[in-house]
Amino acid sequence: MTRGVTDSHCHVWWDQFDEDRDLVLQRARAAGVERMVVVGTDVETSRAALELAADDAELFGTAGLHPHDAGKFTEATRRALEELCQREDCVAVGETGLDWFKEWAPRDAQLSSFRWHLELARSLDKPVIIHSREAHEDTLELVQACRGVRGVMHCFVMGPEELPHYVDAGLHISFSGIVTFKGSASNQEAARLCPEELLLVETDAPFLAPVPHRGERNEPAFCAETLRFVADLRGVSVDHLSRVTSANAARLFGLPPLTVHA
Ligand SMILES: [Zn+2]
Ligand SMILES: [Zn+2]
Repeated sequence: MTRGVTDSHCHVWWDQFDEDRDLVLQRARAAGVERMVVVGTDVETSRAALELAADDAELFGTAGLHPHDAGKFTEATRRALEELCQREDCVAVGETGLDWFKEWAPRDAQLSSFRWHLELARSLDKPVIIHSREAHEDTLELVQACRGVRGVMHCFVMGPEELPHYVDAGLHISFSGIVTFKGSASNQEAARLCPEELLLVETDAPFLAPVPHRGERNEPAFCAETLRFVADLRGVSVDHLSRVTSANAARLFGLPPLTVHA
C-alpha cells in the first residue's frame, strides 16, 4: 500500500465537502495521501483554505484569484490577497492563470490578474500556481516576462510539444486525473517525459476525478490512483514516485519533509 503521497492541488474548502469533510480527509490518509495543498480561488476561499490548514499539520493553504474569478480583480481584492499571500502560513500565490476555454472572465482582466500574481510571487519569493487552459502561448509569454519566478503548471493538460517550454522556464509540472483518461495520449506522453525533479501529482478535487472514479466528485484519496497511473507510465514503482513527488512538493512549497507513518 502506498504511503506519503502529496496531493499538490485540491479545493477541500468547497461546499461539496461541507457534509463530510472530515471523512474525506480520513479517506485520503487511509489511501496514503497524507499531505494536501489547499488552494484558494478568491479572497474568501483563500481565507477558508488557510483556516482549514491551520487546524491540520499536513494541510497547507494558498491565496489567489482564479482566472474564472478575474472579474473581481479590484484594488480591494489586490490589497486583501497581498495581505494573505504575505502570511507565513501561505505557501503559494494562486491559483491564477488564463482560461481561454471557458473564458468566464474577460481576457484583459485575466491577463492583468495573472501578471499581478506573477510579480507578487516573485517579490515574495513564493511559488505561483498556474492554471492554463487553451492559453499556451499567452501563458508562456507572461511567465517568460517574469524572469526568476518559480512555481507550478497545475493540472497540466498539454503534451510533449508544450512541455519543454515550461520545463525550460523552471516550472514544476503537476498531473491530474485527466492523465488517466482514455484519449489523453499526448498528456500521458508528457507525463512520461517530464523530468523527475519537476513532477507533481494532484486531484484538483472536487473536479476531474481520475479513472476509475471518472464523473464522480473527486477527492484527495483519488490522488493515489493518478500516482499509480503515472508510475506505470514511467516504469517506476509507486513508492518511488510517491517519495519523489512528495519531496518535489516539499521543496517547491517550502514544507517540512513528510514523515511517513508505517
Ligand atoms: Zn485550475
Ligand atoms: Zn484548482
